[in-house]
Order: sequence, then C-alpha cells, then structure tokens
Amino acid sequence: MSTALVWFRQDLRLTDNPALFEACTNHDTVIPAYILDENSVFGEAQAWWVHNSLSALNDSLMKQLKLTLILRKGTPLDIILELVKTTEVDAIYWNRCYEPKSIERDKKIKATLQNYGIDVFSFNGSLFNEPWTISNKTGDFFKVFTPYWKTCRQALSAEPEKLAPHNLNSVDVRSDKLDEWMLLPRFDWASQFPNFWTPGEEGATKRLQEFIQNHLHGYKVNRNIPEQNATSHLSPHLHFGEISPWTILRAVEYAKLEPHCDLTGAEHFLSELGWREFSYYLLYHVPSLPHQNFKNEFDVFPWHNDESLLKSWQKGMTGYPIVDAGMRELWATGYMHNRVRMIVASFLTKGLFIDWRLGADWFLDTLVDADLANNSASWQWVAGCGADAAPYFRIFNPVLQSQKFDPNGVYIRRWVPELSGLNNVAIHAPWESANVPSIYSTINYPNPIINHSESRTKALAYYSQLKKRTHP
Ligand code: FAD
Repeated sequence: MSTALVWFRQDLRLTDNPALFEACTNHDTVIPAYILDENSVFGEAQAWWVHNSLSALNDSLMKQLKLTLILRKGTPLDIILELVKTTEVDAIYWNRCYEPKSIERDKKIKATLQNYGIDVFSFNGSLFNEPWTISNKTGDFFKVFTPYWKTCRQALSAEPEKLAPHNLNSVDVRSDKLDEWMLLPRFDWASQFPNFWTPGEEGATKRLQEFIQNHLHGYKVNRNIPEQNATSHLSPHLHFGEISPWTILRAVEYAKLEPHCDLTGAEHFLSELGWREFSYYLLYHVPSLPHQNFKNEFDVFPWHNDESLLKSWQKGMTGYPIVDAGMRELWATGYMHNRVRMIVASFLTKGLFIDWRLGADWFLDTLVDADLANNSASWQWVAGCGADAAPYFRIFNPVLQSQKFDPNGVYIRRWVPELSGLNNVAIHAPWESANVPSIYSTINYPNPIINHSESRTKALAYYSQLKKRTHP
C-alpha cells in the first residue's frame, strides 16, 4: 500500500494529465488536492472561473475515479506538510507551473519535502516544449518568434493520450467547502458569463470539437474578424489546464487527414499555440517581463497616465466605437477578440499615452483567460517595447481597423447598442459630420476623447526622440 498526493494547480483535468497518470499508476491510494494559495491573487473574472472549474473537476474525479477533491486555503507548504503528516503520504505529484513566483515556491516546497524524506515528482503538463529545452545556435534563448517556432515545430509530434487508471483507494481527509471560499463575485457583473463559458474539462473538449468542426477551415483569415467569433475560445481552458496542448495537437493532426482539410488554417492555428509557448518561454528567460520593458530604451517613455482617460477606456466610453465595443465585450464576457485586444491596447498606449502596465493590470483583473505570460508579452508587443514587438511606429488607426475588420458594424452594434441605428459608414466614426445621421446627436454616446491623428503625430515624435537617445 502506498499513498500519493496529487497537487492540482493549472492542470484541472483528468485526461492527459501526467502527474495524475503517474500517481494513479504507481500508487494504490491517491489524494487529489487543490490549494487556494493565499499569496497568489486571481482577478475577479478568474475567481468566477476557478470556482466553476473546481466544481467540474470534483465531479469528474468522483465519476471517473471515485475520488473527492480536497480543498484547502492557505500557504501551500504548510498545507502540504499537514496533509503529509495526517495521511501518511509517500510521494507528491504535480505538473510544473512557469510563472516566476510559482517556480520559486515550488523549488522551496520540493527541497523541504525532500528533507523530510518525501518523494516529489514533477511533470510537464502544459507545454509542447518547456522553456529551458529550446535554444538558438549560440546557446542563447530566442528573442524572435519565427525561428523559435520553426525549431519547435520541426520536432513536434502528437504523443498518445494518457488516461489515469481507475481502481484506486481513497482516504477520508478534511476539505473546505468550495462555497466558503466566496470566489463568485459579490455583485452580479458575471451573471452573463455562463452564457459564454462552461469552465472545466468537458466544456474545453466541446469547445475544441466545435472549433475543429466549424472554424478550423478558413481560420487564418476569419480569426481576424471579430463578428465571426471564428477562433477557438480555448484560452481560459488552456490557462487553467482543462485541456492539454497535446490533446489539441492530436485533434488538429486528425482533422488534417480529412480530404478537404484547410491545411493552412490548421498550421496557422498551431502557430498561435506557438505564440503561447513563446510567451511562456520569454517569461521564463526574462522574469521581469510583467513589470519591466523588454527593450530598456522605453524606460524613459513619457507616459501621461491620466486617470480619467484610463477610466473612459476601461468603461468603453472613449467615443471610438471599435475600442468601446472591445472594452464592453471584455466587461460582459471576460473575453475580448484578439484583433480588438490589439486595437484597444494600441489606443491606450499610443493614443492616450497610458503605460502598458496599467492596461495589462486591467486585463488581468477582467479577463477569464488572464495569463501572466501571454498578457505581458502581448502588451509589450503592442506597445513596441517587447521582444519581437510590433514596431513602435505601427499605430493602429481605430477607424481604419474598424472599417477593415468590422465593415458592416456587426460587432460594434452587438456591444455598443446605442449606435445600432447608424449606417455602415457612420458607425466607425460617428463624429465625422459628413457621415452623421441626425439621430447621432440624440444618442448618449461620448465624443472622441482624443484626436487620433494628433496623438499619432505626438507618438511618432516621442519615438524619434527615443531613437535619438539610443542611437545618437
Ligand atoms: P485562438 O485564435 O483560437 O488561438 C488558440 C490559442 O493560442 C489561444 O487559446 C491562446 O492560448 C493561444 N494564442 C492565440 N493568440 C495568442 C497570442 N497573440 N499570444 C499568445 N498566445 C496566443 N491571451 C491569453 O491567453 N491571456 C491573456 O491574458 C492575453 N492577453 C492579451 C493582451 C493583449 C493586449 C493582446 C493583444 C493579446 C492577449 N492575449 C492573451 C492573446 C490572444 O488575444 C488570446 O490568446 C486569444 O484572443 C484567445 O482567444 P482564442 O482562444 O479564441 O484564440
């Protein structure tokens, strides 16, 4: 008889979960546990997700393995030590996390447990390639996506699925009640979330199937059109590890065998998972990524950080319809389409001159897919200060972007309903008098809070000053 503790973290699934699989294979008694770490704070949107995802995980554990998920709140090391003492655990299993704080925490826990003579086994449960396994020809880490992904992609092949065996013993261990953690928001701004999301492994699997069936074809083009919702919406499921990238890879490889599969769409979709890997890779090699410019010449950038402009942006009241539609989609659903994320981020940093870190913080609080690696790398990319970033002078024009990617204003009308009576020309820039039908003057919608072309000129001037400082 031997007992294993499986510590669930960002791997809230049973399928293709290497830590769970190994624990169930090597021990006859298994204790699955989730610890709400007092030192790591979720944004409000993700707290809603975690509540529902843990509930789903417990249901699957009971149904498939006849095990109950043990919930505890506190400092992970203290709780693990207590569980080890009270249940005579022989070994602990977990899948690795990659945020700097998690790496530090896990190292400490591993060393302490080993001192107590407890075996600790950790696994890669969430990436195709762990960050330290890929380097360029000089042995350094890649700073540019394309050669990085080329190196990863060549070696990428789907591994067989791992399903935990199910004839296990359980132990009676005290658990907190999920409701006691009060993760659900105190007021009902998340009341619409269940219309958009089903947290948990089953929800993730359905999303993947639906995406492969309906949207893999044409993905490369359609992924840019917000009204179509033609992307996978797997990002929160991936963040919480409710689905493994290997499961996604297998599904895509399988779809590629179909006679009319859009191979370009399939490859492009995999490359987006590549961007996720690259963000994790950057965060590992540059742990300061969430709070420091990757390119340090941006350290002297004269951010304005105007509170009231920031508030208008957060509330979706900038007077630029595509920006406001994105910010309101975020508030209502905990998600925003990728194209629109780029537009609103460019607007904040190069239109309002507000520090990308303030935008990133807002996203971390309101996105259900908030992910330190993806969020930091993406904000730095848009702001122009990141690795392999969009050049600073690439300033998204919110009106042109809107005309190009939402030509009929369907996305805008969905999220800014007060503009729905405007025609397809006026809806992108309702203040331009030549386009304004008389109803605009009666609508309670703000005038633009900035003049985009003036901001653009200013942004380019700042940029040329930065360049002069770096290359005098
Ligand atoms: P799909 O198009 O279906 O892509 C599949 C998966 O690939 C995604 O689920 C995601 O895991 C990954 N992916 C796609 N695009 C990117 C990208 N540009 N960078 C890294 N990974 C990517 N993504 C997050 O998961 N969390 C964040 O906090 C986050 N913040 C962002 C902030 C900004 C300013 C921007 C511009 C992008 C951000 N992204 C973030 C990346 C991207 O917008 C989302 O991953 C994507 O919109 C999720 O939708 P999807 O699952 O339908 O994507």
